[in-house]
Amino acid sequence: MDIDHNNERSLDRLANTLKSGHMVLFITGAGLSVASGISTYRSETTSIWSNFIYEWGTRKKFYEDPLVWYNKFWLRTHEKIEYFQAKPNEGHHAIARLSHRCKIKVVTQNIDRLHVKTSLLESNLVEVHGRLGLYKCVNTGDLHKKGRKKKNPINTVCPYAIDKNICTIDITKYEPKQGTNFEDGSLEIQEVPRCPGCNDPALPQALLFDEKYTSHDFYQWHRVLNWIQSFSFQPVRSAAVVFIGTSFSVGVTQEAVLVCAAQGKDMYNFNVRVEDEVSELKDMYHIIGKADVMIPMLDKKLVNNNNRPRMYYHPTSDECMDVQMEYMDKVEPYVD
Ligand SMILES: [Zn+2]
Repeated sequence: MDIDHNNERSLDRLANTLKSGHMVLFITGAGLSVASGISTYRSETTSIWSNFIYEWGTRKKFYEDPLVWYNKFWLRTHEKIEYFQAKPNEGHHAIARLSHRCKIKVVTQNIDRLHVKTSLLESNLVEVHGRLGLYKCVNTGDLHKKGRKKKNPINTVCPYAIDKNICTIDITKYEPKQGTNFEDGSLEIQEVPRCPGCNDPALPQALLFDEKYTSHDFYQWHRVLNWIQSFSFQPVRSAAVVFIGTSFSVGVTQEAVLVCAAQGKDMYNFNVRVEDEVSELKDMYHIIGKADVMIPMLDKKLVNNNNRPRMYYHPTSDECMDVQMEYMDKVEPYVD
């Protein structure tokens, strides 16, 4: 059977599940943002490059020398102007449209903020690996005292290290080295950004390779687990997990695959190729192609014959309340 025919059958099956009104969890990875000009470092890489990313993308490496960490690693690989200027592509927008008509939740591994720039409500989104532009404090007090360069005389955990976000840091203002700037990607800073609460060094709000999902409330790991485990309460075949552009190499995808496989729930894999890890899974349907093309195709299947959007799901009053609360949260200042 050819790819197009297989894709079509899998998209129809997924569209029917979405129409049933049961929850479908979307887990999105770097492949979704490729069409927005953001490259996936896991797939294309030479091993030298990926070893560099895995070695330097750790708190351990940060502690060795925070300034070198920013200049040699973070500003070269992540905090770059193209990330901030990137726009959501048709794949992101199609997911947002689906979220208004079907019961879907989105967990993204991407820190590029592209879902946030669509009409997807944040109450339906978890950025489980963090968000570019936000920062957190390294001061976890007694929790990880060993190895921390202690500047703070009070040895208590700083709220910015565990449940608050620092959103007042503008990295371009940290004494840029002469002749370097953010605009052309050459920025080097001469001073490490610091926490407004305790003055310890600040880290980007991103989950590093040696950190746990539970290390900061921003990653909302308990909410993700609730979403994954809520499948237990739904009849077989009525719920599904949709993976988009992910390489299945991180904890959140592994957790979801484990739960779905154990319970015989449908899984869908939107990807440009089938990864070895998931090629043999019985309940995994592969939809091969670019995310910014294939997800709009799914969206179109949920539009009725008159080409008008249709609601397949009506939020409960509790969920309406959540949305209202979200708007109320937004008008409040984010920092102390
Ligand atoms: Zn702090």
